[in-house]
Amino acid sequence: MANIQWYPGHMAKAKRQMIEKMKQIDVVIELVDSRIPASSRNPLVEEISSGKPRLLVMNKIDMADRQATADWKDTFESEGVKVHLVNSQTGQGVSTLPDAVHHLTAERRRKLEDKGFRPHADRALILGIPNVGKSTLINRLAGKKIAKIGDRPGITKAQQWIKVGMTMELLDTPGILWPKFDDPRVGLCLAATGAIKEELLDFQEIALFLLKTMLQHYQSSLTNRYQIEKLPKLNGTEADQQTLIDLFDEIGRKRGCLMSGGFIDYDRVSEIIIRDYRSQKLGSLTLEWPQ
Ligand code: GDP
Repeated sequence: MANIQWYPGHMAKAKRQMIEKMKQIDVVIELVDSRIPASSRNPLVEEISSGKPRLLVMNKIDMADRQATADWKDTFESEGVKVHLVNSQTGQGVSTLPDAVHHLTAERRRKLEDKGFRPHADRALILGIPNVGKSTLINRLAGKKIAKIGDRPGITKAQQWIKVGMTMELLDTPGILWPKFDDPRVGLCLAATGAIKEELLDFQEIALFLLKTMLQHYQSSLTNRYQIEKLPKLNGTEADQQTLIDLFDEIGRKRGCLMSGGFIDYDRVSEIIIRDYRSQKLGSLTLEWPQ
């Protein structure tokens, strides 16, 4: 689902459809990527959810730094946001998700019971930006293949409710949200994790961003993967850019990314670093931290 271009008209239409869908929904499951818990959120979720209870589900916990994930969870919870951690690929944390959802509907159920009605199951919708794992999570919750992974958006078909355990019903088609592009740092986080097409951004810029993050937070990933003995230090000045380029050169030389004349092939080095990051050859690295 990554290859989506969002135009203002497209976004407005998607938003209207989502608000319309919300009429049938009791709980919104907002799915984010644990490597970029802030950048993979969409600020419009609040508006789209129109006051419905929300559960923030941090997916891909296997790909993120465990300590950073715990810090993010604490931070979100301190802001009053309910958080649930999952790895949709293996199913870790998925079986307890309906319970977490059920907790959020206690008030709705109590109100209905007070009026003498029997509450129906919790109707939930998964919302999230492309590639965050919505289809994978739906299939996990359903216990079978429902949503096609990597499916193309825009193909309409009749919506169905999937029964999940005793208490929950899930809409089989997730709500696709557009990523935020306005902040360049957010764009880099999205591109590095594969949430948006890297062609939209400068390949080398993404690789330099990853290098910088590793130099600041995950030095052993650099030394282990690229056998760099003496890592340079960043000092927060303009000179840092040159320091990063020198490191880029060194990785290029170590990896034999040379063009004729002995010049470093920057595109190839960039590709290696980005691929190594996404395939976790550099470890499970989070790209942003709570403030
Ligand atoms: P969607 O666009 O939000 O529906 O995302 P998909 O469900 O198509 O998932 C995008 C990619 O992320 C796929 O390659 C999935 O296999 C992968 N994925 C989803 N959840 C997880 C997870 O928890 N851990 C890992 N390692 N990969 C995941």
